[in-house]
Amino acid sequence: MKKVIKGLRGMPDILPGDAGRWQYIENTARTLFAQYGYEEIKTPVLEETALFQRSIGKETDIVQKQMYNFKDRGNRDIALRPEGTAPIVRSYLEHNLDKQMPYCRLYYVGPMFRSERPQAGRNRQFYQIGVEAIGSASQYADAEVICLMMKLLEASGLHDTELKINCLGCDKDKEAFEQVLRKALEKQVKCLCEDCVQRHKKNVLRIFDCKNDSCKLILGSAPKIVDHICPDCQAHFNKVKEALESIKIKYSVNPLLVRGLDYYTGTVFEVTHKNLGSQDAVAAGGRYDGLIDDMGGDRTPACGFAIGVDRLLLAARDKIPSCNNDVDLFLVLLGEEAQKKGFKILADLRENGVACQMTHEARSLKSQMRLADRLKAKKVLIIGEDELKNDKAILRDMENKQQKEIKINDVTNTHLW
Ligand code: ATP
Ligand code: MG
Repeated sequence: MKKVIKGLRGMPDILPGDAGRWQYIENTARTLFAQYGYEEIKTPVLEETALFQRSIGKETDIVQKQMYNFKDRGNRDIALRPEGTAPIVRSYLEHNLDKQMPYCRLYYVGPMFRSERPQAGRNRQFYQIGVEAIGSASQYADAEVICLMMKLLEASGLHDTELKINCLGCDKDKEAFEQVLRKALEKQVKCLCEDCVQRHKKNVLRIFDCKNDSCKLILGSAPKIVDHICPDCQAHFNKVKEALESIKIKYSVNPLLVRGLDYYTGTVFEVTHKNLGSQDAVAAGGRYDGLIDDMGGDRTPACGFAIGVDRLLLAARDKIPSCNNDVDLFLVLLGEEAQKKGFKILADLRENGVACQMTHEARSLKSQMRLADRLKAKKVLIIGEDELKNDKAILRDMENKQQKEIKINDVTNTHLW
């Protein structure tokens, strides 16, 4: 028996029926990004494993459990990118983008890879659309990035989202808070899950990412990072909130929000939607003022977001229009000579920008008309042997079902349709 090879688990195909919706989201994003002054950057899917260990953090779930890393044929340690920020910072530094533009507004669109348990809204290859605004510490940078994210979700057809924000403070605040939290949780370590026991030792902030209900309960009464940030960070957070209010972006402060990547400092945020069940985050991001320094560059403030396109589609599929191409004209061709003529007409029409089609196989009139219907062709041109002889074809309007005769040589003059 013949065996068909299937795709990998958690790595879904995006089929033509749905690809039009993906295109719609991407087109919407590109238009909006251009309006806000963001330029596209494309980085490779593979990077050195060390890039992610150093940026996301060695003790995070992404690096510890989810990264696809392996030795390549040259015995190098490489990884499929699990996220977009670290590669962009790498590229920014490698190509001295800071020297060309003091404030860099960048965006990216592409697949990310994480070896997680596949379920609704969680894949192993998934797609992100994101931005990175590098070079500004201003509250307006945070607010612009958040605003752009919310506008893009809205323009893509996703309404009723919830925006949650928090502030992690600067590196010093984070370090000091880690001591406070570690101490506060000491007596309850036994009640934490196995992972959180490790996190308590190695990377205590990560306990906030735990999805385990009993850990969440313990965290409910644990100290909150916003109560332990320095006056400068407090002031910045207030200014971000003010800027958001000034442009009518609704948010709530969630003191438990920390995000799963170590590089975040200052403002962090997440957008959730009720349609998404337990994987309810559709977009997230924050400030990472220390990352560029950590990656070998000068200290440079920056912030960004990433929208999970798969989840956006899951939450708003019915609201997202499809970019499937319209068919202006379908040529119904009966007989070899008609096909020969039709093939030339098709080439001329396409040269003039008309979206048109024919079947390459000889088919009956009925079957060709059925196909034209399925493609939702606006008009159909019927050419058979008689029409060829008399230099006349039948042009049928598929909407009002009217038809008229047209000279075959006039078909390319679309104003005569
Ligand atoms: P989650 O809490 O759902 O695991 P995350 O904190 O790991 O999300 P980020 O790294 O911030 O997510 O990525 C930003 C967005 O990318 C998420 O809000 C989500 O929409 C999407 N995303 C992340 N991981 C996956 C995945 N495995 N499958 C599909 N989408 C994902
Ligand atoms: Mg995750």
